[in-house]
Amino acid sequence: MNDPQPAPSLYAAREPIFPRRVSGTFRNLKWIILAVTLGIYYLTPWIRWDRGPSLPDQAVLLDMANRRFYFFWIEIWPHEFYFVAGLLIMAGLGLFLFTSALGRVWCGYACPQTVWTDLFILVERWIEGDRNARLRLHRQKKMDLRKARLRLTKWVVWLLIGLATGGAWVFYFADAPTLARDLITGQAHPIAYTTMAILTATTFFFGGFAREQICIYACPWPRIQAAMMDEDTLVVGYRDWRGEPRGKGKRTADSELGDCIDCMACVNVCPVGIDIRDGQQMECITCALCIDACDDMMEKIGKPRGLIDYMALSDEANARAGKPPRNIWKHILRPRTIMYTSLWSLVGVGLLFALFIRSDIDLTVAPVRNPTFVTLSDGSIRNTYDVRLRNKHGDDRPFLVTVKGDPAMQVELEGVPEGSVTVPANTALLQRVYIVTPKDAAPSAQANTPVRIWVEDLTNGDRAHKDTTFNGRGN
Ligand code: SF4
Ligand code: SF4
Repeated sequence: MNDPQPAPSLYAAREPIFPRRVSGTFRNLKWIILAVTLGIYYLTPWIRWDRGPSLPDQAVLLDMANRRFYFFWIEIWPHEFYFVAGLLIMAGLGLFLFTSALGRVWCGYACPQTVWTDLFILVERWIEGDRNARLRLHRQKKMDLRKARLRLTKWVVWLLIGLATGGAWVFYFADAPTLARDLITGQAHPIAYTTMAILTATTFFFGGFAREQICIYACPWPRIQAAMMDEDTLVVGYRDWRGEPRGKGKRTADSELGDCIDCMACVNVCPVGIDIRDGQQMECITCALCIDACDDMMEKIGKPRGLIDYMALSDEANARAGKPPRNIWKHILRPRTIMYTSLWSLVGVGLLFALFIRSDIDLTVAPVRNPTFVTLSDGSIRNTYDVRLRNKHGDDRPFLVTVKGDPAMQVELEGVPEGSVTVPANTALLQRVYIVTPKDAAPSAQANTPVRIWVEDLTNGDRAHKDTTFNGRGN
C-alpha cells in the first residue's frame, strides 16, 4: 500500500512587495492628498480658538472629562450626540457615493492605511534605495554592517512616525501644549502613555510590515464595496484588446503584437503586487499608479497613453468595436449616485438646520415615577421631575422655571425658594422640580394631564420647553 500523501498546506507565506518609484498625474495627486491629510491630522490639535475665559481654546477637542466636543465655533453637548451620528451617516453615504462612481477611490487615495503605508515606503526608498536596491538587500542573507545600519535607520524613522501618530491622537483629547509638556516631563496620565504606545506599535507594524495584507485580509471594505459598484463604475483596467498579444521588441508595420511591451512596469509599481493585465482583482485598491507607469512606457515607445486607464465595464463593448467611450458624466451621473448625493445632502441640510435653530439654553426632563404621585397632608397632589438645565453661555445665568398645563398647578424647586435658579457658565445643572395641584383644584388638574415645563433665561428672555405628564388620582 502507498503511504498517504501529506495534506497540502493551506498557508501561503507572504511575498514581500517592493514597489518601484513612479511619477505621473496620479502619483502627484496621491502626494498632494498625503500631504493634506497628514498635515490636517498632525497639526489640527495645535490650532487655537478663543471661546472666552471659561472654555478651552483648542479648536478641535474631545473633552471626555467634561463630556463636550469642540469643533471650531461648534460645541456639541452630550445630549446633542445626534450631530456626531449625523456626520458619521454623511461620511458613510459619501463613501457609498464615491465607491459607486469611482470604485475603491477611498482605498487608493485617502484611507489611513494607504496614506501611512505610502509614507513608510517613501522613507524606505530614501534609506534603502529604489526597488532593485531593496530587493538586493532583502535577498542578502548575511546581516553585515551596511544592512544592519540601513535596517536600523529605517526602523527608527518608522518608530518616530509611529510616535508622532500616536502623540497627535492623544492631543485631540486634552489641551495639546499642556499635554505635550506633561508627556515630556513624565507627568501625563498613564492612559496617554498607553494610548501612544499602542498607536506607535500599530502604526509601525501596519505601515512597515503588514501593508497590503491589511487591505487584502483584515479590512472588510473590499468585500462590502462590490455591492455599490456596477458596470458604470469607473475602475482601473487594462485595454487587453489593444495591448494583446503582448510581447517585447520593436513593433513593425506587419507586427501582430499589441501595444503591451511586457515591461512589467505596471506590476513593479503596484503596492499590492498584482498584475492588472489579469483583469479586475479584489486586491486592487485603484491607486492608479499602474496607469502612470504604463503611460510613461507608452510615451517612450511612441504609442498613445491609456493602455491602462480608468474605464467602465459598460464601455468595453464600444471600445472593442473601436467606438468612442460614453461621456464620463454619463457614468458618474446615474440613479444610484444621484440617490446617494440626495441622501447625503438631505442629512447635511438637516444637520445645518438643527445647528442653527438650537438655543443657548436647554433642558431635559426625567419624571420620577416611584411613586407616580404623592398626596400631601393637606390633600394636594405632587409630582416630582429631575430637570437638567443647560447654560451654554460663557457667564452664569438665572433660569426661571414655570409650568403650563392647568392654571392651578404650581412649580416648586427643591432648595430654591425664589423660583429661579442660577446655572453656572457652560454647565448642566440637575434641579429637582415639583409640580403641585391643590386639593380643591378642578378634577381635570388632578387627573392624568399633559404639561409643559418652561425655562426662561432672565438675562435675555430666551426660552425653552419640554413636554411631560402630570399623574394624578385619575390614573
Ligand atoms: S493594479 Fe494598479 S490600481 Fe490596482 S493596486 Fe495595483 S497599481 Fe494600484
Ligand atoms: S506597463 Fe504597460 S506596457 Fe508595460 S507591461 Fe504593463 S501594460 Fe504592458
